[in-house]
Amino acid sequence: LRNIVRRYGSAGGVFRPARTVSVLEEVSLTVERGRILGVVGESGCGKSTTGRVALGLEVPDAGEVLFDGQPMPKPDTREWRQMRARAQMVFQDPLGALDRRMTIAEQIAEPMVIHRIGTPGTRKERVAELLTAVGLRPDQGRSHPLQLSGGQRQRAVLARALATTPELLVCDEPVSALDVSIQAQVVNILLRLQREFGLGMMFISHDLKLVGNIADEVAVMYLGRVVEKGSPEQLFSDPQHPYTQVLVASIPDPFRRRPRPALKGEPPDPSHRPAGCPFHPRCTIATDLCSTELPVLRRVSGRQMAACHFVGAATTDPLEVPA
Ligand code: SF4
Ligand code: MG
Repeated sequence: LRNIVRRYGSAGGVFRPARTVSVLEEVSLTVERGRILGVVGESGCGKSTTGRVALGLEVPDAGEVLFDGQPMPKPDTREWRQMRARAQMVFQDPLGALDRRMTIAEQIAEPMVIHRIGTPGTRKERVAELLTAVGLRPDQGRSHPLQLSGGQRQRAVLARALATTPELLVCDEPVSALDVSIQAQVVNILLRLQREFGLGMMFISHDLKLVGNIADEVAVMYLGRVVEKGSPEQLFSDPQHPYTQVLVASIPDPFRRRPRPALKGEPPDPSHRPAGCPFHPRCTIATDLCSTELPVLRRVSGRQMAACHFVGAATTDPLEVPA
């Protein structure tokens, strides 16, 4: 993703003026083959839109999406459909992603039917393999979604996402809707399959601790902008952006004596974007400069970059850092 801008317009009504909500502003991110990019931030920061733009499900208003070095084809063209087989998405709600009237096996086979992969016989074999790969029994393929638990359903969604042997998987809060007790199981399956298939993965979550545990690179988003990126080690041990610092400090730690820091002010509202630094109304070290000048991403050290006036040195190309 190179300098992606995405804005939603709403037509005015009798009581509402027409307005534009800016969802993404100059977002540049790279998912490398075989690696995991974690994207974190509060709800409304543009994480999901970032994932949808990366898959060509949503067309940006400005900027460039490259997949395997090629520009993203226009939606609903033949090239776009071919690309869609190579990049898949796993959403938060497995029940919403599945059709209750179809069996699990039918739904895992469906992408292969759509993309004309294999014969009925080979598809059946592949479905059995995929069920085993995600830790379901082949006979569970005959079940309907409502006959499975939430964790089993998300495994089925994962099996379906892998049916076309994609190279890129975008996972949007893939375990947030699941019971805490089974989240780790599903994450472990996801990681095992990611390694086995050499998948590039964008893992979107509000849970910085989880993302830090599994990602190779992490991007922190705030109000449609990437405010910091780097390795999990860098972000956890030496967060530079004041927002990342609060996020890291708020990770629950049973041994912490001091109270956890909180964010002051309102959570971000994309329809009311503050001038200057988007974080300034909640930043404890903001100065006058912050309410007028937008800080750009600047290099801190190595791969770590942050968008704060008081951090790092100027750099010209936000894509120099592969996060
Ligand atoms: Fe805070 Fe200013 Fe840095 Fe924004 S630019 S994070 S308001 S200090
Ligand atoms: Mg979301």
